[in-house]
Amino acid sequence: MPNRLNGKVALVTGAARGMGAAEASLFVNEGARVVLADVLDEEGRHIADELNRSHAGHALYLHLDVRKTADWQDAVAMVERTFGSLNILVNNAGIYSSSGVENTTEEEWQRIVDINQKGVWLGMKATAPAMRRAGSGSIVNISSIFGLIGSGGSAAYHGTKGAIRILSKAAAAEFGSSNIRVNSVHPGIITTPMVQSLSPEARQAVATAGCIKREGQPDEVAYGVLFLASDEASYITGAELVIDGGYTAL
Ligand code: NAD
Repeated sequence: MPNRLNGKVALVTGAARGMGAAEASLFVNEGARVVLADVLDEEGRHIADELNRSHAGHALYLHLDVRKTADWQDAVAMVERTFGSLNILVNNAGIYSSSGVENTTEEEWQRIVDINQKGVWLGMKATAPAMRRAGSGSIVNISSIFGLIGSGGSAAYHGTKGAIRILSKAAAAEFGSSNIRVNSVHPGIITTPMVQSLSPEARQAVATAGCIKREGQPDEVAYGVLFLASDEASYITGAELVIDGGYTAL
């Protein structure tokens, strides 16, 4: 019986599909009770229902727009009311844009910053008090290889993912004495709806540019997130876990 998260309560944002759904499913299979948060209510509810079929009462879907303070406050209150505490936050929700520095509009810039960057900050701000009440916590912020290196486009996306990297270290420093760990994860190209909206040529170019010449799968990231979320990583904070098939190694 897998039990790497036995007794833990986790909140995963952007859990209605893609990597968030894989992380939420793996966490439930490892014994956690999980709140799946997203703005895609139908898809999110469906995944929570599926998980509850095999693990009754272990999954709960919640509408949470990561840009909204009130949504975060409601979510934390709901998690504590339903499951008693909150131990793990995965700030996974995010959106992509390939626009470069000159053709990014102010509206596009602001939308990406609000979801990818402000959303991560609001999530940590809202959940830290609950983790202190629980006695400890683990926060995993999903950045990207685009938070480590440039690519000649995707200006706003790069900016936000780079910000998440250093924000995670700042939060790790701030929360260390509260027994709350904060780490960032940097996936390469992973087969999800976000990537499936790109051209086959663009996908192929990135997928074959690393050491392992294929796209990664959501589960291959989810296992890294699971490790950081679990007590197995009890002395790991302020760290970066790159899961990119060696893209940034070359
Ligand atoms: P996805 O588009 O498949 O899923 C993202 C989820 O976030 C969706 O369910 C979406 O509804 C949700 N979301 C968007 N805006 C939201 C908001 N305001 N509030 C709450 N939820 C919101 O994407 P994915 O590929 O699974 O990406 C997950 C994370 O991984 C993102 O942060 C993304 O930037 C990052 N990432 C993805 C890749 C990749 O190749 N797929 C690589 C590196 C990093």
